[in-house]
Amino acid sequence: MATGHTSAVPRRKDKLLVIMGATGAGKSRLSLDLATRFPFFEIINSDKIQLYRGLDITTNKLPLPERLGVPHHLLGELDPRDGDFTPADFRAVAGQVVSGITNRRKVPMLVGGSNSFIHAMVADRFEPGCNVFEPGSDASLSAELRYNCCFLWVDVSMAVLTEYLSKRVDEMLDSGMFEELAEFCDPDRQDKHDPAAVPTGLRKAIGVPEFTRYFKKYPQSKRDEDDDRERRAAYEEAVRAIKDNTCQLAKRQIGKVLRLRGGGWDLRRLDATDAFRAVVATTSSDSDGGERWSDIWERQVVGPSVKIVKRFLEE
Ligand code: ATP
Repeated sequence: MATGHTSAVPRRKDKLLVIMGATGAGKSRLSLDLATRFPFFEIINSDKIQLYRGLDITTNKLPLPERLGVPHHLLGELDPRDGDFTPADFRAVAGQVVSGITNRRKVPMLVGGSNSFIHAMVADRFEPGCNVFEPGSDASLSAELRYNCCFLWVDVSMAVLTEYLSKRVDEMLDSGMFEELAEFCDPDRQDKHDPAAVPTGLRKAIGVPEFTRYFKKYPQSKRDEDDDRERRAAYEEAVRAIKDNTCQLAKRQIGKVLRLRGGGWDLRRLDATDAFRAVVATTSSDSDGGERWSDIWERQVVGPSVKIVKRFLEE
């Protein structure tokens, strides 16, 4: 067998910017702020639910016009009927996307809250099926990385994030989340005879289990004026459960980010708490006179991130 020429100089690792943080903390916004300032970035989604087509409002996918022409990969590209995508699948597919981007002399940016996918993607040593976030699984967390990574962690204090997430769920409902979920969960609208039509990949999206319970009891086709009070109470219960589950998700995600940092990943923390405090205040009547949230975001999050990214790109 021909051995070929092996160079003594190891190949330089590809650069990868990673934006992480809890759901709602502003990762997508920061990714666009950076991609518009450094126009060679291309974004790869690392939210395990946003990988799939469908439920765009419920899963909070950035709509096409808001992507500002920045290429986004693995965002709404998979068919939810194909079943769950594993961290190992993500490592393989996102790895190919990174190669494609770097071959075009662009720079990849991984953006999303699924830390199991981020770990699988960038760890040098990865054991499929091994959950690094399980207590006691220290040995499997790889501090060695297969890319030259720069990690930005957008953090918001849990008290402020909780308030913001509640407001965000209300806004999503105003934008059509209920109708979208009715289409998806209402038993009267499902194709009961075709098992292949079950969109498995989306069944765990927050909003689906909560409203599946609701539509089982109150399918839209059986609207009965007599049960309006109970229907309203069940609706409010579903909304409350979505808000609670979203906050639980945020807490778990922050725990995983801390675990990665504890495992030796050099995460640069950006504190977006003041900006989010201003966002939450903008709807209340006493917001006049406060600094605009976008100015605070720019000063406390974007500015420091730009400096970090510049240094990383010059290395
Ligand atoms: P886990 O191992 O708990 O799945 P993870 O790091 O792989 O964690 P997370 O991003 O924390 O992935 O997602 C966990 C769960 O949170 C998902 O299975 C889903 O229920 C919910 N979730 C995540 N992202 C979204 C989203 N965009 N929309 C709705 N629900 C989501």
